[in-house]
Amino acid sequence: VKGFAMLGIGKLGWIEKEKPEVGPYDALVKPIVLAPCTSDIHTVFEGAIGDRHNLILGHEAGGEIIEIGSEVKDFKVGDRVVIPAITPDWRSLASQDGYPQHSNGMLSGWKFSNIKDGVFSEGIHINDADMNLAKMPKNMPLEQAVMLSDMASTGIQGAELANIKSGASVAVIGIGPVGLMGVAGAAIHGAGRLFAVGNRKVCTDLALEYGATDIVDYKKGDIVEQILKATNGRGVDATIIAGGDSNAILEAVKMTKPGGTISNVNYFGNGETLPIPRVEWGCGMSHKDIRGGLVAGGRLRMERMIDLCTYKRIAPEKMATHTFDGFKNIEKALLLMKEKPKDLIKPVVFI
Ligand code: NDP
Ligand code: ZN
Repeated sequence: VKGFAMLGIGKLGWIEKEKPEVGPYDALVKPIVLAPCTSDIHTVFEGAIGDRHNLILGHEAGGEIIEIGSEVKDFKVGDRVVIPAITPDWRSLASQDGYPQHSNGMLSGWKFSNIKDGVFSEGIHINDADMNLAKMPKNMPLEQAVMLSDMASTGIQGAELANIKSGASVAVIGIGPVGLMGVAGAAIHGAGRLFAVGNRKVCTDLALEYGATDIVDYKKGDIVEQILKATNGRGVDATIIAGGDSNAILEAVKMTKPGGTISNVNYFGNGETLPIPRVEWGCGMSHKDIRGGLVAGGRLRMERMIDLCTYKRIAPEKMATHTFDGFKNIEKALLLMKEKPKDLIKPVVFI
């Protein structure tokens, strides 16, 4: 099978690989829609998770099953499916413990484009198909389906980890596609005042549509000062970090109230340590809870993301600002993520 790969740090290219073997519980899927992720950029150009050689990239896809294992019960050849970015080993102790994302080692539930070939491939191997695939509804637009693998699931997880009480004030730092879904997630989790920290108009417009009440421009002054001023010095109940550099942790701690929650879904691509401000963290005694997590995956999670779309709670397809036709254009789409033109939120490739 042909795939678009990381050849080494900073190097991309097309490669040809053996067709993956389909075990009794597995499936092989051909993609019908794909999207590149900012994480692919961290992985290739920052070498953030270490060097990888000839690893096919990508973890956001919808597709059609072309081969199925003998023990798979709920799926058959020809079914259209949403593929989650995270495909855990459900028979693992970490899964029993409630953290399937870390099944068989930290971050190891994240297989595609991390520890095995990703979805930018003519034949995508799915481990444990019954537990890791979700049927794509017939009428679901493909650009909506592909946003569920990672963007919707991650952004909404940002809101879930933020422990949002009804009417709570929330700030979302970074409103690319993940942060925008963080805004939408915070709104459905009951946020009252909802600050979206961004800059580009295409993002701030959509943030307002998704439920933000205030826009804070990080290019127009210190965001901590802006948010403290807007909240009469009190800060917000919860901050979701979905963008920015490692300084975002420091800012989040400063702008969150004592007893509040800092929820991180950002992927910090470089540096040895992350800064926590000692004084604003109450010298360690502020009860400001700092948490972060790899996006949830698996079938049930994807089915719930599908329901959020079906019942019109979220509209992630609005983030698809750039579309391409044809498998070969995945290269263009990925490079577009690197260039980040002003009007880009998310590129999508229809196969
Ligand atoms: P984007 O790069 O599209 O979005 C990040 C946003 O942060 C941009 O819109 C940018 O604004 C904004 N930003 C940049 N600098 C600052 C700053 N100093 N202060 C505030 N905002 C800033 O990324 P994505 O939305 O695709 O992804 C966000 C992060 O989530 C990435 O690190 C990604 O790797 C990670 N991720 C994590 C996952 C997980 O499982 N936890 C899963 C998927 C992604 P502007 O463009 O206007 O300058
Ligand atoms: Zn991703």
